[in-house]
Amino acid sequence: MKLPNSNTFCTIPFIHIYGTADGNIVPCCESQETIMNNEKESLLSTWNNQKYKTLRQQLLNNKKPNICKVCWHSEKNNVTSTRQHWLNDEWNNFKDDIILNDDYSVENPPLWLETKVGNFCNLKCKMCSTWSSYKRAQDIDILKKYGTGATTKLLKPDSLYNQLMTNKEIWNHIKVLQFSGGEPIINQNYYDLLESIPKNLRSNIKLKHATNLTHLKYKNYDMIEIWKQFKSVSVKVSVDGIGDVYNYIRHGANFIDVDKNIDILKEKLPECNIGIGNTTQVYNVFQLPEFFKHFESKGYLNFIENFLLQTPKYLNISVLPNLYKQAIIKKLTEQGEQKFKQTINYLQNNNTNDTYWHTHTLPYSKDLENRYNDKTKFINLLEKYIN
Ligand code: SF4
Repeated sequence: MKLPNSNTFCTIPFIHIYGTADGNIVPCCESQETIMNNEKESLLSTWNNQKYKTLRQQLLNNKKPNICKVCWHSEKNNVTSTRQHWLNDEWNNFKDDIILNDDYSVENPPLWLETKVGNFCNLKCKMCSTWSSYKRAQDIDILKKYGTGATTKLLKPDSLYNQLMTNKEIWNHIKVLQFSGGEPIINQNYYDLLESIPKNLRSNIKLKHATNLTHLKYKNYDMIEIWKQFKSVSVKVSVDGIGDVYNYIRHGANFIDVDKNIDILKEKLPECNIGIGNTTQVYNVFQLPEFFKHFESKGYLNFIENFLLQTPKYLNISVLPNLYKQAIIKKLTEQGEQKFKQTINYLQNNNTNDTYWHTHTLPYSKDLENRYNDKTKFINLLEKYIN
C-alpha cells in the first residue's frame, strides 16, 4: 500500500513485462530502446535482475530515470502519461498481488505479458518505423534521409516465444496477455503462442490486442472461436483518421473495409471490448472532431482514445507552423474544448521553429507521396480540414 507514495511511482515494472519484436525484454511501450535482459537471460531471471531492481528503486524514490523520459515529457506538458494511465486504471486491480522485497526484487512473477508478434505488418503507415512494420524497410532511404533509419531486418521474437511455449508454468500467473505488432492477426506466431497455452488456463487470461483489423481471418484459424476460450477479449483498432486522412496515413489499407470489419466484429462477438486508438500526429490532428463524431455515432464502442505521437519528431504536432496551429486550436476548441483539452494544451505549449517543418515534415511527406503515387497530398488535407 505504500508503493504509490513516490511521486514518480509506476505500476508497470512491478507487474508487467514487454517483449519486443526481436524477443528482448523492455520495461514498456514507451521505453522500447531500453533492453532489460542480458545476453541469453531468460524472462523470469530478467524480471528480478539488477536493471529491473534499479528501475523499481528509482520509481519508488521520487527519481525520474532517463529511460522513462517519454512519461516525464508528457507530464510536463499536462498530457496524461502512460505511467499515470496505469496508476489510474490498473493499480487497484493488481496492488494486492505485488510482493516487494527489500532489495527491490518482487516475489510475484510478471502478471501482465505484453508482446509484439514481430515486425511483419501488411501496411506501411507513414509515421511507422521499421521496428513495427518490416515493409517500411522499402523506404529506408527516405527514413535515413530524415535521420530516422532503423533496422531493415524481419524480426521475430523466437527466443521469447520458445520460452513461453516450453515453460508453461508461467501461464499459471499471467492474468493479461497483450499483443501488438507488426500485425498480430496475420502472424503465425500469434496463433502458435495462443495454442500453446494449456486449455484449462485459458479461461483465467484476458486477451488484449492492438490491431489494424484489416483482416478478420487468417489461414484456417477462426479467431472468434479461439477468442471465446479466454476470460475476455479486448481489441483496440488502430485507426488514425477517417476516409481520405486514414487512407493517406495507412498506406495499403482502405478505411471503408476497416470500418466495416469493426461492425462485423461487434456483431459476431458482442461481448468483445472494442475501441479505437488514434495516434495523433501532424497528418491527422486537424481531423480529430470529424474522427470522434464518426466513431461516437456507432454507439457501441467501449473507448475512443488518442495518443500523441512523439517519434519521429518531425511528425509530432509541435512542428506545425503557428498559422496552422492557431487554426487547429480554434477548430478543436469550438468543437470539443474539453475532449481535446490535452491536444490543445500541447499545441499551445510546444513550439519548434518553422525550419524543421520545411526541412523535414514537408519534404518527407512529399518524398513518400511521390514514392506511393499518392493522389491525396498532405498539404491539401491540412487546408481542406481547417478550411
Ligand atoms: S514511467 Fe513510463 S516509461 Fe517508465 S516504465 Fe512506467 S510507463 Fe514505462
